[in-house]
Amino acid sequence: MTTAFLKQAAPGVQGLRPYQPGKPVSELKRELGLDRVVKLASNENPNGAGPRAMEALSRLENPGRYPEGSGFELKAILSRQHDIAPERIVLGNGSNDVLDLVARVFLTPGRNAVFSRHAFAVYPIVTAAAGARAVVTPPRPADSTMPYGHDPEALAEAVDDDTGVVFVANPNNPTGTWLTPDEIEDLLKRVPEHVVVILDEAYREYMDATLCPDSRALLERYPNLVVTRTFSKVYGLAGLRAGYALCHADMADLLNRVRQPFNISTAAQVVAAAAAEDRTYLQGSVELNTEQRALLQDRLEGMGLFTLPSQANFVTFDVGRPSTPVFEALLREGIILRPLAGYELPNALRITTGNGEENREALTVLERVLESP
Ligand SMILES: *Cc1c(COP(=O)(O)O)cnc(C)c1O
Repeated sequence: MTTAFLKQAAPGVQGLRPYQPGKPVSELKRELGLDRVVKLASNENPNGAGPRAMEALSRLENPGRYPEGSGFELKAILSRQHDIAPERIVLGNGSNDVLDLVARVFLTPGRNAVFSRHAFAVYPIVTAAAGARAVVTPPRPADSTMPYGHDPEALAEAVDDDTGVVFVANPNNPTGTWLTPDEIEDLLKRVPEHVVVILDEAYREYMDATLCPDSRALLERYPNLVVTRTFSKVYGLAGLRAGYALCHADMADLLNRVRQPFNISTAAQVVAAAAAEDRTYLQGSVELNTEQRALLQDRLEGMGLFTLPSQANFVTFDVGRPSTPVFEALLREGIILRPLAGYELPNALRITTGNGEENREALTVLERVLESP
């Protein structure tokens, strides 16, 4: 037996390693024989899915038939909500799927994708998988008002003749930092109109309304803009896999050419449609997050730790020493956070905003772990 095929893998794929997800609760329980585990590692909604989504889940029909390939119902709801034609919506198996579609259409060997250091981990993966080169721009300095955040100036300057896509996460994961609406529009003005700009708004609903760009209006002014959204975060449907892009109709047509015909399952379509209409649940989730995120930030600062500003459902903080051993010590006590060495932030941990009890428990254990040398 040989693995001669390894050398045949596309060059971009040879240098990749699989994405490291947060450790699942069931795995940690099994490994350590723990009964109780608090997982605040993957930016999931602590309340899970809402009542209308759960009700839709319980009504699912026998899945013997293929999904509705066009996602008609879900798109109709999103179309009304965003006041945009259904032809300008592309559904994805999570918004990561949409990021991958854009990469497959616009990135080729010889082209590059521009994104900031400490940006979302999926950008380098879809770029390398498409055989393109990553152009990683320096972030804002640690002592700025938006430490480690995207520097829009650096992003705009990095765009060259070979650039196919610019990725912007707003707010960004794992930093929680954001760009102002003016900074976003300035960036769009500076990027040539044939270069695609992805505005990844996975955490948009958590933002203070005054900080949100009017991305719907931007779509009218910048046909090269692709706005991505997800049901994984505030809607509490991470396990279901549903996301989408809003874009120009011709862009949607290109993305649909490479989209797998049944990329979004029947269950995902039906449940996401119900969730999208549950504004009460959304509101409650946002309020819980705003309140608990502020508490987390206060308590972390109170422990003498440097925290990054966040408009998302997590807080990233510096533990003043390599964070992977701290992460491991927390694991042994049943607390799962996210170490950020893989994001070139070796002293940082990211904590998802849980409910009050989860946050208190995690911080109590963290304080104890940090006291031991
Ligand atoms: C979580 C996240 C997503 C969403 O991924 P899904 O595939 O929709 O679950 C997208 N972008 C960023 C920056 C994220 O953190």
